[in-house]
Amino acid sequence: MTLLDFTHDPALTSWVESANEPDGDFPIQNLPYGRFRRAGTEDPLRVGVAIGDQVLDMRLAAELCPWGDGIEDLLQPLAAGDLAGFMNLGPQAWRAVRGALSLALAAGSDQGPFLETCLLPRTQAQMQLPCTVGDYTDFYTSLHHALAVGRLFRPDNPLLPNYKWVPIGYHGRSSSIVASGSPVQRPRGQLKAYDASPPVLAPSRRLDFELELGALIGGSNALGEPVPIESAEDRLFGLVLLNDWSARDIQPWEYQPLGPFLSKNFATSLSPWVVTLDALTPFRRPFTRPAGDPLPLPYLDSPANRAQGVFDIALEVWLQTAAMRLAKKPPQRLMHSSSADAYWTLAQLVAHHTVGGCNLRTGDLLGTGTLSGPGPGEGGSLLELTEGGRKPIVLADGEQRLFLEDGDTVILRGFCQRPGARRIGFGPCHGTVLPARETVTPA
Ligand code: CA
Repeated sequence: MTLLDFTHDPALTSWVESANEPDGDFPIQNLPYGRFRRAGTEDPLRVGVAIGDQVLDMRLAAELCPWGDGIEDLLQPLAAGDLAGFMNLGPQAWRAVRGALSLALAAGSDQGPFLETCLLPRTQAQMQLPCTVGDYTDFYTSLHHALAVGRLFRPDNPLLPNYKWVPIGYHGRSSSIVASGSPVQRPRGQLKAYDASPPVLAPSRRLDFELELGALIGGSNALGEPVPIESAEDRLFGLVLLNDWSARDIQPWEYQPLGPFLSKNFATSLSPWVVTLDALTPFRRPFTRPAGDPLPLPYLDSPANRAQGVFDIALEVWLQTAAMRLAKKPPQRLMHSSSADAYWTLAQLVAHHTVGGCNLRTGDLLGTGTLSGPGPGEGGSLLELTEGGRKPIVLADGEQRLFLEDGDTVILRGFCQRPGARRIGFGPCHGTVLPARETVTPA
């Protein structure tokens, strides 16, 4: 069970002044990891730690700063630009390095003078994916999302009977996972309206976002050896924001009987900074089920999961259209929700994924599924916010949206705050929609 320690002390401040601003995403209590290269160069990727408006370059930090016994070895993968190598070391190493970084970056630290030269302004860091993503699984953990989508497609029977027993998921595709900031090209696919026949190959007209969290796996279990829920969190290095871009007009025609395919495989965006589970410790909550709902089967239940298996992360989606950008108007918030409203915890996802013997490996990604809240304006996709593309969203400048237009920028944001803890954030996950490619096939 993870406990609070000195790294979570809300009174802790850093000698990096910008880290002490109260509304910043990256105070000394956060210390997320990412991979970057200096903007405008083709240098090899380095691992960095975000602190205020700076990035601590871990290659330089390992070389130029004294770290003390036991820590220098653990820093080697970070110094080599290999975040996956560090993720593979496991929770004791993660916690030891977090403690060392906290001491080194704290106000008054003897290591400060060594590390001052290891900082790069975040504006000069070109962020990449935190690691090469191995296998990607997307779950469906929000009951509110499942109900809202179910009502659109099956008004008489919105929730299928397995939902409250088994964490629903499918195996996705990792080759098209991109870092925040990468543009997203509108996909072509087979479209078929309910009353039209036959289908046509055309650019999607119902392009959507899905607000999700992504969990990155650190360490591997052997094929055939399930991870029990008691140690499931030891396999979770940290979380990122995830936008599972979706084509709502490709999806209904292709998804039966085997599930989503081309409607989901053209792009998935990840935020670049991995917020570790240790950083999220102050924002844990008990896992409960509404009265009358079935209790999870024993392999999905544990005292620790019940006591503190939920992470309470505030989530938001913002939109900036091309016209807003041209007029220098800021993005507009479309919705907000909380990850605490999900029906399944991260530990349950790991335990379930492996219970049949499937091996998870370092760098695998588990998506939570769209994290919608229970109320109006809390849908994690346009499909929900526009009631299936029937009720347009009217933006402040008078524009309307049912689905995304070319030039639209979608921005996901996530942060944690509660009394007695320092606020931490994820940094944005954004992507701009590009027009579909000109077709190359003669009609
Ligand atoms: Ca999804």
